[in-house]
Parts: sequence; structure tokens; C-alpha cells
Amino acid sequence: MRKLAVLALALGVSALGLTDASARMRYVTIGTGGVTGVYYPTGGAISKMVNKKRKEYNLRVTVESTAGSVFNVNAIMNGDLEFGIVQSDRQYQAWNGLAEWQGKPQKKLRAVFSIHPESVTLVAAVDAGIKTIYDLKGKTVNIGNPGSGQRQNSIDALAAAGIDWQKDIRAEGLKAAEAPGMLQDGRIDAFFYTVGHPSGAIKEATAGARKVRFVEIPAEVVKKLTEKYPYYAASKIPVEFYPGAENKEDVPTFGVKATFCTSIDVPEDIVYAITKEVFENFDEFKKLHPAYKVLTKESMLEGLSAPLHPGAEKYFREVGLLK
Ligand code: GLU
Repeated sequence: MRKLAVLALALGVSALGLTDASARMRYVTIGTGGVTGVYYPTGGAISKMVNKKRKEYNLRVTVESTAGSVFNVNAIMNGDLEFGIVQSDRQYQAWNGLAEWQGKPQKKLRAVFSIHPESVTLVAAVDAGIKTIYDLKGKTVNIGNPGSGQRQNSIDALAAAGIDWQKDIRAEGLKAAEAPGMLQDGRIDAFFYTVGHPSGAIKEATAGARKVRFVEIPAEVVKKLTEKYPYYAASKIPVEFYPGAENKEDVPTFGVKATFCTSIDVPEDIVYAITKEVFENFDEFKKLHPAYKVLTKESMLEGLSAPLHPGAEKYFREVGLLK
């Protein structure tokens, strides 16, 4: 009898122990992109802000390198990831049931906020003789891995330039982290990457022995794209970050925005906590990557297609960013 009581007491104590902060710690993961992109450090920046308060929120945010935007949407939808960074055009397509989600709108997808601008970046070897997008015909070009955001951007840009990616080029489906090395090794002539600047991948591609240039997406092609698709806008690649590239002036192209996404199934208080920590520490957050230089709090509510998650909406209403 006495033994049982002691056992119960011991169990009681350990049950109580379970209610302390460490036992209730909740873990969420942000899906990003390749480690030499901007999504990966962005996931790191967001997690850094939130993990400072992990005891207060009982929340620990971790970051995972992934195949990119399309992978992230799908992983959020099937519950493998709680959060992901997703190109604004991909968010639009997932929500509306287009492209990879043709006829299958992802109605549980929710927007949290948008982040840095991303430019469709076409990098080509100078010795391959590629001066314009039209010169890609007959060349070996990495259009991006399945699961990446850039793959469809490459296909759209090529199509608008009258180039059939399946017939007119030798299209490769490499991950963005592999493309710079393949270009430097002479295994490909050019690659597309939709990414914020500066990015490690583009630094790697422009700093090698094989000379490279950014190839402009000409105005007539950008015009076709922006007229046809609501989510594309004209943009420029800032060459200041890449002294090894042949270009001396910023390079016209088109682009989208990186956005932070989640699922309606992720608890409101978790989304609220993350939104609050990023916005309350906005100046500190902005210092974590040069691609955030252009960010304003207001701009971070633009470019979202899926409905705001209630946790984000709650915070934005509290501080008057949403009326
Ligand atoms: N935009 C790319 C994608 O959606 C990722 C870029 C990055 O990792 O910075 O796949």
C-alpha cells in the first residue's frame, strides 16, 4: 500500500514536471530553398527573432533547406512543414489551382507576410556566346529543378521569347545550388534562378574562372509577361553585388516577391508570435540580409494571394497595419 502511494507520488511529481516550459515546447519548421539562396538565410533570420523568446512562447523554430517554393507549398499542405517561403506567383497559383496545382486549389494555404523582392536571373557563360535570351536556342540551360519556384518562371520567359523549352534548348532540371558549379565546369551554358540579391549562388557563379554575364530579359518579353500574368512585374538585377560579372549596369528583367506562408491548421498563437517578433524587431530583422534593404512594414502586406492567417491578421489589426 505504502509502496503504491510512493509510486503515485512519484508519478504525480513527474506528471507535474511535464507541465514545465521545456516539456510544452512546440517545434515548428520553416521550409526554405537551397543553402546558397536567400530563402535559407531568411528562414534563419525569422527563426532568430522568434527563438530569442522561445521560453515565453514555448516555441522553437527550426529551418530546413528544401527544393524551393513548390515543394514548400506541398509540404505545408500535407503537414510536413508548418511554414515555408514561397514565391508570390506560386502562392497565387496554389491558391487559385493553376500550374502545378491545375484544378486543385490549395484552400488551406494561408499568407503571413511578404518579404524581399526576387528577380528572374539569367546567368550565361561569355564563351557560350549568349548575349540575348534569343541566343539560348540550341544551348544547355538549367531551367530549375521540379519543386523550385524558378522552373515555371524560366519556361514562361522562354515562351514569351518564342523559345520552346522542350524543343529549342537542352533543358536541365538542376537545383539552384548545383547550377553555378556546373556552369563553371562547362557542363551547362546558362541557368535561370529566381532569387533575391545578393545571393551566394550568384556570387559563386560570377566569381569563377569562366567569365559570365547576366542576360537581360528584354522589355518586349517582360511586357508580354506582365500583360499575361498578374503576378509578374519588371525588375532589375543590381550588379554592385557581383563585381566578377561582365555587366557594368543593372540588368532589366522581371520578378516576384518572396512570401511567408502557412496552413490554416497551424495554431493562431504560433502564427501571431512569429508575425509579432518579426514586425516588433523590424529594424534588427532588416539588418540580417542586404536583400531586405527595400522592405517597409507596409510593403510586407503586399503581394499576398491566399487569405491572411488569423494569427497574422490579429497582429496587423492590433498595430493598425490593417484597418
Ligand atoms: N525562388 C526560389 C524558389 O522558389 C528560391 C530562392 C531562394 O532560395 O532564395 O524555389
